[in-house]
Amino acid sequence: MNYRASKFAFLLPIFALILFLFLPSLLPAQTSPEAFLGFKVGADRKLADYNQIQAYFQKLEKETPKLKLFTIGESTLKKPMIMAVITSEANMAKLDAYRAMAKKIKDPRTLPIEEAKKLAKEGKLILLITCNIHADEIAASQMSLELAYKLVKGETPFDAGKVLDDVIVLLVPTTNPDGEQMEVDWYKKYLGTKYEGGNMPWLYHAYAGHDDNRDWFMFNLSETRAVTRVLYHDWFPQIHIDEHQMGHDEARLFIPPFMNPPVPNVQPLLWRGVNLAGANMAFDLQRNGFPGVVHGRSFTGWWIGACDDTSWMHNVVGILSEMASVRLATPIYVEPTEIPKPYTQRRMEFPDPWPGGWWRLRDIVDYELTLSLSLINTASRFKEEFLMNSYLMSKNSIETTDKGQPYAFVIPARQNDYPTMIKMLEILEFGGCEIQQAKEDFVAGGRAYGAGSYVVLLAQPYKPFVWALLERQKYPDIREFPGGPPVLPYDNAGWTLPLQMGVACEQVDKPFTAKMERVEKVSYSRRGGLMGAASAEGLASVSADAAGIAAPKYFVMDARENASYAVAFALLKEGAEISRSKGKIGSGDSEIAAGSFVIKNGPAVQKALAAGLLEKRHARAWALDDTAGIPMTALKNPRIGLYQSWWSNMDEGWSRYVLDDLGIPYTTLHNSDFKGPKAAPDAKPDKAKPKIDLKGKYDVIVFASENADIIKTGKIDPNHPYARWFTPLPPEYEGGLEKEGIDALKAFVEQGGILVTLNEACKTAIKEFEAPVKNALEKIEPTKFFCPMSILRLAVDNTTPIGYGLQEETPAVFSESLAMETWLPGTGDWERKVVASYPENNILMSGWLLGEDVIGRKAAVVDLRYKKGRIILVGIACQIRAQSHGTYKFLLNALLYPAAN
Ligand SMILES: [Zn+2]
Repeated sequence: MNYRASKFAFLLPIFALILFLFLPSLLPAQTSPEAFLGFKVGADRKLADYNQIQAYFQKLEKETPKLKLFTIGESTLKKPMIMAVITSEANMAKLDAYRAMAKKIKDPRTLPIEEAKKLAKEGKLILLITCNIHADEIAASQMSLELAYKLVKGETPFDAGKVLDDVIVLLVPTTNPDGEQMEVDWYKKYLGTKYEGGNMPWLYHAYAGHDDNRDWFMFNLSETRAVTRVLYHDWFPQIHIDEHQMGHDEARLFIPPFMNPPVPNVQPLLWRGVNLAGANMAFDLQRNGFPGVVHGRSFTGWWIGACDDTSWMHNVVGILSEMASVRLATPIYVEPTEIPKPYTQRRMEFPDPWPGGWWRLRDIVDYELTLSLSLINTASRFKEEFLMNSYLMSKNSIETTDKGQPYAFVIPARQNDYPTMIKMLEILEFGGCEIQQAKEDFVAGGRAYGAGSYVVLLAQPYKPFVWALLERQKYPDIREFPGGPPVLPYDNAGWTLPLQMGVACEQVDKPFTAKMERVEKVSYSRRGGLMGAASAEGLASVSADAAGIAAPKYFVMDARENASYAVAFALLKEGAEISRSKGKIGSGDSEIAAGSFVIKNGPAVQKALAAGLLEKRHARAWALDDTAGIPMTALKNPRIGLYQSWWSNMDEGWSRYVLDDLGIPYTTLHNSDFKGPKAAPDAKPDKAKPKIDLKGKYDVIVFASENADIIKTGKIDPNHPYARWFTPLPPEYEGGLEKEGIDALKAFVEQGGILVTLNEACKTAIKEFEAPVKNALEKIEPTKFFCPMSILRLAVDNTTPIGYGLQEETPAVFSESLAMETWLPGTGDWERKVVASYPENNILMSGWLLGEDVIGRKAAVVDLRYKKGRIILVGIACQIRAQSHGTYKFLLNALLYPAAN
């Protein structure tokens, strides 16, 4: 020791003491959610909105190296979607390396098993937690703040240091930021009134509402896309939990194992992982004194369109949690005597019934915190196994072709609606599917296919996804007891994507050889734009050069492609003169369908085409110089009204989505548009009230699928199975069309308006107009006829205006749909034309159907003339969830129906 050091040696303990006392204050202190919000998370009648949620995570990010925020996308209403990554500091420094490992371990084609084992040891488990997709199931969004705080502070029932070294937690506080904000705003507005905690009169998502959790193979919504990118493109988690809430009076919590039946495409090892995680959660909840946890009820392993379920299809352990609800943040009291009997009795899957009593938001937060922490702990304890399972499931996907598994699906290049086929391929690609394209003609399954056809081989890492989407579902016949009523599936029984989208796709069971190349990026290999010349004899060959036909008198577009409709609507808006051919044009290869669009060339059309309208829609037009010999009907630019009740109708939202997607303008109509504004309470009896002139404003009025009582009265029949889910609305949203609105609607049709009713809404038209139509399924016993959401075969008359462009045999989604019998009454007020009907037999294409004889030969789509106007009854789910592209044309044709007068 030298002199200088020894001189000050006595100061060292003092320095040490100073450091000991003040070091903690030099590290950033982590702000608790309570300190930040000014209330405890989950406190009665208190909610953090999305701005507060974002701000809290941003603050926490600054205060700890264990949390990093990522923006994963944008909501439909343009809010940033955030995801917090929570893990150890050491892991945080190597996030990209761990993401790469997670990706690598999913592809055994490039990774021998010994290396996979090494990766499972070195890698980290990536666990995705998504919250609050259903915006009124709001607890999880609130819980996420406390979960993040506890993890970074180490306030956990396990050694947080070790666990966060094993696990990289991806926490999405809300998958529906727009809805979260709407719900909190709505809640605060009515706090302290009798409407506190009640339903909003509109959807908690710009388009989808509750159906935002039905979009997870279709990827329509920007929110779905953001999380899907996290799942299969950027982060490759091995475990995913989606946290929900359910009704209030049964179990306190559902967690897996799921209820029967399992979808056949998922691997058994996946279910074992799901069940392990579920059992551990239940175990931890029970140890910590949380009663009322149930397994194996309500939520099945079949439906694949929900957020957690899409994970199964990608060999990701997908878990659903469903907590009993309160009224947003308002506590409820559950009378012990009113708990349904099965939830008062101990069973093996429900060993500890909840006794009833007060139930609060904080209770939900406590359960959700416990189950989330339990899952994180399970992820750590079984890190290597879960990582290795990810490898083994992919390996199994690629290597096994069990008996009964197809070899491939072939999508012929020649399609009825080419751009829709490409859209389907893009969906598959976004879901992680590998697609091949044939370079030469080939034969598969005894059929010849042309070069350019697409092939989806089943042997690929995400086999369950491609298989389940492309094959036809056969839902097992499950009854309450032998010979008894069928048990309702949780959601769709069948969803086959090519059938829904009207895309030809063949399952091939036996191996075949073909010269194929992997498609790196799906693209429109068929050129959109201006093609060759057409005449009454048909279209010129596609290869014909468009040169020299720059200024023809007309253009013609095929009605079989949805894209043609988008172009026609866009041109009508610009004032173009467009007609539809009454019959087919040409024959054989050069033929185009009846209802094809004949567009008169002019400056507006030239301008739109020059601006790339056709290319934007991947549509095609042919030059036509002479319309002689082509019988046509002139179109007008329709003024469209779309009814929106105050009952947050998802089908109305999806209808808007479809119209917006195709660029079709419309006006949203509320009850007051049919009745005029409410008279002031002191107003004289309604003498002065102006009559509503709907025909003066609209040509077409559309009612999306909705219950007839709700449309008419704004109230649901108290005996309706869903009645208990609804709460009263504030007075400004009360009521329905009432007699006054129905009378205005009648006058609209009588004067030549076109009323379009979709699916359930047909019942309103049939009843209120006393139409010569009877629904054969009205009040039918489920033992006689039963068809949960499935795909059925329709025979379509595509020579009639509502059937234009559709295939003669068209798959259609049946969902609480109609089977109609029509007749012609004695008065001249009515005429009717059956546009589509169920065939005599062999009706089911995908899903589950009992009692097909009840609907065989009955009508599914009917075109009624009533006085000067028309009523189009589309008795199937033609645009449901913006998935059934194959039947959009029933709606689009109705919108373009020329006025009858
Ligand atoms: Zn939910």
